[in-house]
Amino acid sequence: MQPKAVKGMNDVLPEAAATWQVLESAVREIAKSYGYDEIRLPLLEHTELFRRSIGEVTDIVEKEMYTFEDRGGESLTLRPEATAGIVRAGMTNGLLHNQRHKLWTTGPMFRRERPQRGRYRQFHQFDVEALGYEGPDVDAELIVMSARIWQTLEIDRVALQLNTLGSPEARAAYRARLVDYFSGVKSGLDEDSIRRLAQNPLRILDSKNPAMQELIEAAPVMLDHLDPESAEHFDALRRLLDAAGIPYTVNPRLVRGLDYYSRTVFEWVTDALGAQGAVCSGGRYDGLVEKLGGRPTPAIGWAMGIERFVELYLECGGAPAKPTPAAYIVAVGDGALAAAFAVAEELRDGLPGRRVELNLGGGSFKSQMKRADKSGAAYALILGDDELANGTIGVKPLRSTEHQVSVPRERLVATLAG
Ligand code: ATP
Ligand code: MG
Repeated sequence: MQPKAVKGMNDVLPEAAATWQVLESAVREIAKSYGYDEIRLPLLEHTELFRRSIGEVTDIVEKEMYTFEDRGGESLTLRPEATAGIVRAGMTNGLLHNQRHKLWTTGPMFRRERPQRGRYRQFHQFDVEALGYEGPDVDAELIVMSARIWQTLEIDRVALQLNTLGSPEARAAYRARLVDYFSGVKSGLDEDSIRRLAQNPLRILDSKNPAMQELIEAAPVMLDHLDPESAEHFDALRRLLDAAGIPYTVNPRLVRGLDYYSRTVFEWVTDALGAQGAVCSGGRYDGLVEKLGGRPTPAIGWAMGIERFVELYLECGGAPAKPTPAAYIVAVGDGALAAAFAVAEELRDGLPGRRVELNLGGGSFKSQMKRADKSGAAYALILGDDELANGTIGVKPLRSTEHQVSVPRERLVATLAG
């Protein structure tokens, strides 16, 4: 029996990976241009880290984590998201005390969700985090940075939703209001929500069950219970976004799927991907470091789902990247192969970044030309007995009707560069 891939875990084949690379490098360059530095983290963390940061009563911790006991009996978990690991690394490496860091990371995340379009069990995120920054300036800058990604890649079918969750104290008061409200309509709640009512009523607002939406719509909203500092923070953020010309909608029911957020939360959503509309989500998590045993440290970040990002780019008319060689070297006859190796290296020296393919595995002139054509190369470079004898290369355009020309070997780089 042939081996199967694990359900919900995809191979990214070379053609798709080429497009991923283009988008990933665009995002990396943008993060760099805002002063963010890369951090690389382990895929495995102690299970406890995610239980304490993401929160016990969340979908991720309750039912989606890939958790196992290693041979030493420790409970480890494949990371479902990157923020907890970044904060842990900040604490482990003493990066949080009297310092500020703007960091990005990328890589696979693991959640045992029901696989469907835009929702996988191994998926990838690009993640940025600003540690030690109180905002609201950094909140605005992070959002402006995400907007630049859409502009750069000409992605237009996205809209920004914004909310604030207030301070922990304000949220405690709001929580009490929510419990009152949902207790009064308990018969309309689904099983998950009834459980959440006791443990974590804010989570009910994050329910994806369509049957719950009407009750959620009518629930009291956090915005009416904000503490003055959070209200000022939110207003200042809105003023900065207005000044930067970034449109948004305030969505008072946006709570996000993890427990550690406070104050600013936001989500870029699209109508181009069916039910999985969130492409980039983030928020402020001022209480997280302290919750994990560190000193209070303000922080904010966002994460973009790369699978959804790539799909959205293509839906918005982005061209799939197609890496094609600049030249394919055809070598026929005794001694031609060694010369072809040398020519290929000269081209790789002289045309950095361009792709040069050498015919591998021999074959007749005709079959090598077929491969050259199939490779998508702009030119076939032909090395046979005649060319060897007089120090030239046959340059045959493969994508036009122009005729083959004979070029002295020392002029080859210049010819192809032009
Ligand atoms: P959703 O509401 O779609 O479940 P989320 O709130 O769980 O998203 P986050 O945990 O904030 O998402 O992750 C950030 C981004 O990662 C999302 O905006 C989305 O683009 C992407 N993402 C989250 N879960 C998945 C998944 N299972 N498969 C693919 N992408 C995902
Ligand atoms: Mg989710």
